[in-house]
Amino acid sequence: MITIDGQAVVARGSLLDVARAAGRPLPTLCHDPRLPPGGHCRACLVEIDGKHVAACTTPAREGAVVRTDTPELLAYRRDLAELVLAEAGPAGEAAHTLHTMGATGERYRHQRHGLHDTSHPVIKIGLSACILCRRCVSACESVQGEFVLAVAGRGAGARLYWDDEFAHSGCVSCGACAATCPTGAITDCHSHSGEVVRTTCGYCGVGCQLDVHVAGGKDGHEAHITRVDGANVAPNRGHLCVKGRYAYAHARHGDRLTTPLIRDASGVLVPATWAEAIERVANGLRPGGVAGLSSARCTNEENYLFQKWIRQGFGTNDVDCCARVCHAPSAAGLRAAFGTGAATNSFDDIERADLLVVIGANPTEAHPIVGARIRQAVLRGAKLIVIDPRATALTHVADVHLQVHPGANVPLFNSLANVLVSLGKTAPSATGWDEYAAAIVADTPERWASTTGVPAAVLRQAGRLWAEAKSPMMVHGLGVTEHLQGAESVTLLCNLAVLTGAFGRPGVGVNPLRGQNHVQGAADMGCQPDLGAGYQPVGGAPGRRLPDIYEAARRSEIRALYIIGEDVIVTDPEPEKVAAALDNLDFMVVQELFLTRTAAMADVVLPGASFLEKDGTFTSGERRVQRVRKVLDPPGQARADWEILLDLMHATGCPQPFTSPGEVMEEVSRVAPQFAGVSYSRIEQLGSIQWPAPAEGHPGTAILHTAETFQPKLHVVSWSASPAFRGAGLTLITGRRLEHYNAGSMTRRGVPGKIVTHDELEIHPADAADRGIRDGERVCIRNEHGEAQAVAQVTDRVREGECFLTFHFPETGTNRLVGGVQDRWTSCPEYKVGRVEVSRA
Ligand code: SF4
Ligand code: SF4
Repeated sequence: MITIDGQAVVARGSLLDVARAAGRPLPTLCHDPRLPPGGHCRACLVEIDGKHVAACTTPAREGAVVRTDTPELLAYRRDLAELVLAEAGPAGEAAHTLHTMGATGERYRHQRHGLHDTSHPVIKIGLSACILCRRCVSACESVQGEFVLAVAGRGAGARLYWDDEFAHSGCVSCGACAATCPTGAITDCHSHSGEVVRTTCGYCGVGCQLDVHVAGGKDGHEAHITRVDGANVAPNRGHLCVKGRYAYAHARHGDRLTTPLIRDASGVLVPATWAEAIERVANGLRPGGVAGLSSARCTNEENYLFQKWIRQGFGTNDVDCCARVCHAPSAAGLRAAFGTGAATNSFDDIERADLLVVIGANPTEAHPIVGARIRQAVLRGAKLIVIDPRATALTHVADVHLQVHPGANVPLFNSLANVLVSLGKTAPSATGWDEYAAAIVADTPERWASTTGVPAAVLRQAGRLWAEAKSPMMVHGLGVTEHLQGAESVTLLCNLAVLTGAFGRPGVGVNPLRGQNHVQGAADMGCQPDLGAGYQPVGGAPGRRLPDIYEAARRSEIRALYIIGEDVIVTDPEPEKVAAALDNLDFMVVQELFLTRTAAMADVVLPGASFLEKDGTFTSGERRVQRVRKVLDPPGQARADWEILLDLMHATGCPQPFTSPGEVMEEVSRVAPQFAGVSYSRIEQLGSIQWPAPAEGHPGTAILHTAETFQPKLHVVSWSASPAFRGAGLTLITGRRLEHYNAGSMTRRGVPGKIVTHDELEIHPADAADRGIRDGERVCIRNEHGEAQAVAQVTDRVREGECFLTFHFPETGTNRLVGGVQDRWTSCPEYKVGRVEVSRA
């Protein structure tokens, strides 16, 4: 116990925590519970054993006697508040705090710093309100892992600093500084509070929890989003990236589809009523020759209904989802090695690992909250190995960067295993050990160095780091999967985990970073041709995979296609072939937010709802099932996708008894064994549940494969070179930028579209010089498959002989350059190795 102002209180946490628990509301200016305590502002000064200390940074020790309200302390706080007001004119939280400290603003009159920086599209800085509390500096460093802001100078000369104009300062637009600033010195133009709805981010598979503020919706005023905060729970713990915080304008964008469209006799899409549209779809879809492509943007409940409809309504397993073009190899590889095709661990394990291995992934851009957590872990002392053809933000803080040539993952992973075995890492109890041990001997780093581009000494250094780690945790991305041997490469990562005993415990594992926010759930719910909900074998023969569906459409074996929320002409390889397949259909329906290129080809277009406009659940990349809650009504006549599907199921002789997504989840929990313990009431109670939750009341499973009897399987994989691995020209890698998401239909219509306005081709200075290309010039990228155009960014982030092109703007045509090479196990396209010529446009 300690004594505060004569009151005995349990000593727990800091003196600030204890004082507040005891009802002594000490003022603070620099304190934010989401940030490490700084003790900068001194507003929370207290007297302890006769000395003055900052309460926020002083632990509450047993037996201490603390005073918070001596006349000396009150006078000190009043003086401090007057001095702060003399330097700055804060608004909001800080102004209120200074007022409670007794400041009038009359006592001292200094010159306030008038610098304003409005260069950034949303984050604005006005130093006249800055009180130098350093909360923004701390948020940037300790939450985002960036060092954009600093306080420099002393006394009256001290001020907040950043490089250059703020828009070009290296800021990643996460908004953490604006979210914590108590004075209004840093604002993000989206700062008004409203009624708060907790929901799940609809962009990447990290599954951040959002607190969305909504205003209006009454007295004829349309409801609108005023601000988005990061909820202080897993996985984001108060933080968000630029997409989660600012990319919501698409929900009210004028381009939204607001009425069903039907192609009329003259071939034009014209508005129709829902009754007309449903009737047209019911007449157009007849058993025999129907296929469905579900959406990784839709909820579990919608994906479950969709595959049930395609299977039961039309007697076919020809249903797939976009996992086919991203992480199907992860699921297949993990299933082959470990029996379950999902991440073995949780994002919270990032903080428990002593070595992080990031493979073919750029999480600071594609999964920013995971990227920030990895950076933080490294800044706190964890080791980091990055395996990537490019230099990324993480390679700058990595202990070892294995800059592998695109397409050489198999020899690289095998030679890492060779080093680990040579350092005594073995797994004789794993299935297949004898064959594996015999095979891996030949894969020395020296043998593969010229193929992989990684010097043997560097590879051995990485192997030693790995062998010494107690808790090595792998996270991987599409740089592993979107290859000729994508799934086999995932089995090789599993081999590395088995050799180092890195499974079935905290801080380890093999963890795919899922791209689309709900690709995990689309696959979990059975939107794949060979497995139904809960990965159970399907009745009858497996259906066709997505590329085979296109092929069957070209051969007229598939006559009708139903697509939800995928712009396949833009996102899939060989767009001309995809368009020809769609063109050859008798009937096509697209359920969408916008009239995309694919939707424009449909016979019927149905206006669906964005993640902000419906109820349901999303399952993130760490198997975490979380609620999606309706924030706004869909615009016009647009409807929640589950409602549209229920109407269509009814109209096509497959009626369902459900009246809400929660009832659909009740059926999922009966059908899919992993979901037996998942229900809306349990999610409300626990916040989220990680599957498997194999029985009612089960709390969920953060870490897979913990049983003593668990028997992993080792795989021997020999390398097969991609046809594009060597040859004339440059090796092309395709990938993402932080600000945008996939084909960009949502992010381009909001704040991110103001920050990044076009696709870029990263090209090495030597390759640019050879071709007479200057930074910022338009370039033409071509190969035997097609041609794309982008703006050159001359940079040594890529190696000489390699280049990197983003794919967020359909007009660029990035996927025209991707050919028909597919992963041998799963048919995932090889987006990560191409061969191109680049010239000035
Ligand atoms: S927005 Fe994020 S990265 Fe940019 S200055 Fe603020 S905290 Fe740092
Ligand atoms: S990291 Fe992913 S889930 Fe989190 S806010 Fe950003 S886009 Fe959304």
